Amino acid sequence: NTQEPWRPFNKSGVYMADLESTLHYSLRVEVAAYPVIKGKALISLKKYVAVLAKYFPGRPIVMNLLKSANSWVQNQTGDEISYEAFKEILDNSAQSPDAALPVGVRWVGCQGSQPHLRRYPCGVWTLFHVLTVQANNIKEVLSAMRNYVHIFFGCRPCAEHFENMAREIVTEVKTLSSAALWLWSRHNRVNNRLAGALSEDPNFPKIQWPSPEMCPACHTVKENGDHKWNQQQVLNFLLSHFSSSSILTDYLE
Ligand code: FAD
Repeated sequence: NTQEPWRPFNKSGVYMADLESTLHYSLRVEVAAYPVIKGKALISLKKYVAVLAKYFPGRPIVMNLLKSANSWVQNQTGDEISYEAFKEILDNSAQSPDAALPVGVRWVGCQGSQPHLRRYPCGVWTLFHVLTVQANNIKEVLSAMRNYVHIFFGCRPCAEHFENMAREIVTEVKTLSSAALWLWSRHNRVNNRLAGALSEDPNFPKIQWPSPEMCPACHTVKENGDHKWNQQQVLNFLLSHFSSSSILTDYLE
C-alpha cells in the first residue's frame, strides 16, 4: 500500500514490528501457498516452527501463540496437514486471550521507498540474524532456516542462490560464533552481488555491513592498504546488535 505513512526509524535499530511482520508474511502468506503440506514441506515447517517457538525473542502474547502452534504441528503424526487447519491455530480460533500473532504487516526498519523494495526479504534476513544470535543449538537453527528458504521462500532465484551457499554449513559451521559470522559474511556476499541492481532501494544502498560509522572497530587495514574485517569485533557487534535486549518495540499494535 503506497498510501501508508512513512514511519520514522533509527537506521541502526532492529524492530520487533519487522520481526512480527515477517512471521505474519511467512506463516500466513508463504506457507499458505501449500494448501496441503506434506513430505519435505511438512518436515521443514515442523523444524521452522520449533525454532521460532524456542528462539524467537517475542512478546509473551506472540510466544504463547508460537508455542501452541509448535505443539500442534509437532503432534500431527499423519503424512499431511491442511494449511486451513494450521491457520486456525495461527489465528487462535479457540480465542485464548493470551495468545496472538498480529495479522498484517507493519514495516519499520524494513520500510522501502517503493512498495516493491525491502520489506519481507529484509525481514527474513533480520529474523535469521536474530535467531542465529539467540540460539544455543546452531545446527537446529541453520538447518531450519536453510530448509525454510529452500521450500517456502517466494523468491525462487534467491532460494537457489542461498541453497548453493548453505551447502557449506555442514563443513564450515561448527560453533555458535562461526554460525553468526557465517550468516553475516554470506549476507555481505549477497549485498555485494546486488549492489547497483534494480532490487536495490536507492535510499538504502547495499553496503558491506556494518559500515565504519556503525562499527569503527570492525574495520582494519592490511599492510598493503586493503580492507580487512576484525572478525572478533564483528562478532561482538552482531551479538549486541541482534540481541533481544536491543530490539526496539516502537509501532507495535
Ligand atoms: P537486506 O539485505 O535485506 O538487509 C536487511 C538489514 O540487515 C539491513 O538493513 C541491515 O540493517 C542488515 N544487514 C545488511 N547486511 C548485513 C550483514 N551482512 N549481516 C547482518 N546484517 C546485515 N535478492 C536478489 O535480488 N537476489 C538474490 O539472490 C537474493 N537472495 C536472497 C537470499 C535470502 C536468504 C534473502 C533473505 C534475501 C535475498 N534477496 C535476494 C533479497 C535481498 O538480499 C534483500 O533482502 C533485498 O534486496 C532488500 O534489501 P535491504 O536493503 O532491505 O537489505
